[in-house]
Amino acid sequence: MIAHVSLEIALRKEFDYSIPPELLGRVDIGSRVQVPFGARKILGVVTAVAEESAHANLKPIIKVIGAQTLVTAKVLKLARWIGEYYCCAPETALKSVLPEAVRKEDASWRERLFVRVLPVIGEFPKLPKRQQAVWNLIEERRQILLSELVELAETTAATIRKLEDRGLVSITNEVSERDPYANETILASQPIMLNPAQLIALEKIKAAMARHEDGGLKVKDGPAKPSSTLPPPSSTFLLHGVTGSGKTEIYLQAIAHTLEQGKGAIVLVPEISLTPQTVERFKARFSSGKLQTLVAVLHSHLSAGERHDEWHKIRQGRARIVIGARSAIFAPVEPLGLVIVDEEHESTYKQEESPRYHARDVAVMRGQMEKAVVVLGSATPSMESYYNCKKGKFTLLELPERVDDQKMPHVRVVDMRQAAYKEKGPPIFSPQLKEAIMQRLERKEQTILFLNRRGYSTSLQCPKCGHVCECPNCSISLTYHRPEQKLSCHICGHNERVPNVCPNEKCQNPAIRFSGTGTQKVEDILGKLFPHARIKRMDADVMKKKDDYRRVLGEFRHGKIDILIGTQMIAKGLHFPNVTLVGIIYADMALHQPDFRAGERTFQLLTQVAGRAGRGDIEGEVFVQAFTPFHPAIQYARRHDFVGFYEQEMEFREQLKYPPVSRVAMLTMKGRNEDKVKFSAEHLKRELEKLKTATAGADHRNHFTDLIISGPSPAPLLRAENFYRYQIMLRTRAMSRLSQSLAQAVATLLLPDEVTLAVDIDPVNLS
Ligand code: ADP
Ligand code: ZN
Repeated sequence: MIAHVSLEIALRKEFDYSIPPELLGRVDIGSRVQVPFGARKILGVVTAVAEESAHANLKPIIKVIGAQTLVTAKVLKLARWIGEYYCCAPETALKSVLPEAVRKEDASWRERLFVRVLPVIGEFPKLPKRQQAVWNLIEERRQILLSELVELAETTAATIRKLEDRGLVSITNEVSERDPYANETILASQPIMLNPAQLIALEKIKAAMARHEDGGLKVKDGPAKPSSTLPPPSSTFLLHGVTGSGKTEIYLQAIAHTLEQGKGAIVLVPEISLTPQTVERFKARFSSGKLQTLVAVLHSHLSAGERHDEWHKIRQGRARIVIGARSAIFAPVEPLGLVIVDEEHESTYKQEESPRYHARDVAVMRGQMEKAVVVLGSATPSMESYYNCKKGKFTLLELPERVDDQKMPHVRVVDMRQAAYKEKGPPIFSPQLKEAIMQRLERKEQTILFLNRRGYSTSLQCPKCGHVCECPNCSISLTYHRPEQKLSCHICGHNERVPNVCPNEKCQNPAIRFSGTGTQKVEDILGKLFPHARIKRMDADVMKKKDDYRRVLGEFRHGKIDILIGTQMIAKGLHFPNVTLVGIIYADMALHQPDFRAGERTFQLLTQVAGRAGRGDIEGEVFVQAFTPFHPAIQYARRHDFVGFYEQEMEFREQLKYPPVSRVAMLTMKGRNEDKVKFSAEHLKRELEKLKTATAGADHRNHFTDLIISGPSPAPLLRAENFYRYQIMLRTRAMSRLSQSLAQAVATLLLPDEVTLAVDIDPVNLS
């Protein structure tokens, strides 16, 4: 027997190895193995097993890692698709489906030594004083960790071993699972009676699951009908429900149904909303009491050991529900019945390094491959997903109202141009917002203030010569951080002292000025305006430790904070009934960025942030401060009108053939020498043009008649971390075919040594 093995060092090639007799039966598709490669020993994954190989003199596999195959055949198939579609080496795709904590050769369960009391046979022996004292402690507890006992009894392991020799205790090595939620007491929750809109949605999801079941049976019982007579049911749902409309309750009940069918579920949430609050809701329904291990959690805040154990609980089938960020889509849940992607529009689902996959799109693909129902949920769906509903690819489910007839918050747009005119320069707080904050303080209600920019001031400029302090490594201005008195680059992390005079040698004007506002300044000014208010700031500068986030939110929930200021960290998922006011300081900040999704992002962000207000009995109020108050993204958000926004935005996307009308591939050339980068990008463009005409010529295979090639042009952020970047943007409807051609073109492309090319299919970040 031989095995095809994909090696971890990316070679875009698989190699054959023989399976030595002692490993027969232990090597299967998905096994992780160690193999010889030249003089080295390398790890890899078995992708196929066969009787014989086309090659002679195969070297044998050295060893198999782990007792079970780590990559299931289904996940392997998914990884293959990722390699092809996202134009990356299959090894890179394979690597990403296993968490580092599981992949490492020495990753394993934590074993610890337990001491247990054995039944005394015959007469109890007379023990030396020290041993007797230790025995008394053990007897009381019946079982205890050896390390704990050593400490408690102030003794040594040797003394305890003497008790073992006498047959009084056993000392055994046992697995002790690391449970990241071991110290939490979670109260069980019961299903809530659904309202009519929720019921309809849930019934449709259940019906789709039943259809999958039937489909499965037909294949088993006899020949399947020719596929042309069976309209393909759309396996994917888009659940569009305003914030607080009860989406999560639908997820919970759909999961319960999935479990009844003997299947498991994956729930993806953006990393940022993997708050204890979210995890608790799932654990409370499924994982209290006896069912401790039913819910597994995978995210970056777990220790490597915890991640290892959570993953293996899933692989062993003890955990049936997985909640996690992006990469949890690869969790080895089998059989898989349901995948939920909450906040499906979130850009964090896209991985920004190779493999550059989008977890939502991978979820839809995995659902198709494994006949699992996929539910994408959002209050502000992505243009892509809503478009897919219009095209009949997805089924739309709608929850237009909040549960319990709570009203949507009242949104007021404040024209900051007027405020700026009156106050000689843009103020941070309009008089209206100041007044509203004052009222909340008097009524002992809470306020959230949102500004998506940390630091104190966003730039330092000389009013005399115009010099702006820029990062030496990136084409971006430095942000002023007041507590540390430093200028800091938000791209590469470069820090420097604040200069006393203009750094321009010829100028040296001492009156350099800060401009632009960050969260630190908001906090500062607010403290001066309302000296008695209890104010806290939440952004990446203050939230450094794992528990900071949870602690501050806890204080806020218990009413110990009046005003919470924050960046996108506080935009989502938070549910605080006493928050009746939300202020968005500069609503149009993200609107004028060179990205075709700028409007969509602004609409989503405003809607999400506004959704934090009025989650209790008192109606919420939202102030949106903007310099372009009549922009559609702001006006439609004010009216909570997603469909209106979608329709006007589609006109623009249609005109310029931007997604969802087409798909985009972004090719970025990167290097330290700008001329070489530019030259290489132009060379690539010529190659791509050839590809277009070549395929158009070969009659039946004119795949790319709709291909638009734009650029090369300097990236919006031309220089980052000392690398210059030039981009070519491709737009086509036939992306899967284009990625294949791209992979070939890229493989044969000759580039200067210091220039690299990154291919990003369906990019989310264009900078
Ligand atoms: P979403 O996920 O859409 O923001 P949630 O599922 O979190 O909404 O629901 C908001 C709140 O309403 C939660 O506290 C939830 O328990 C409650 N809720 C959900 N469905 C119902 C219902 N049918 N009746 C009463 N309360 C409900
Ligand atoms: Zn920098």
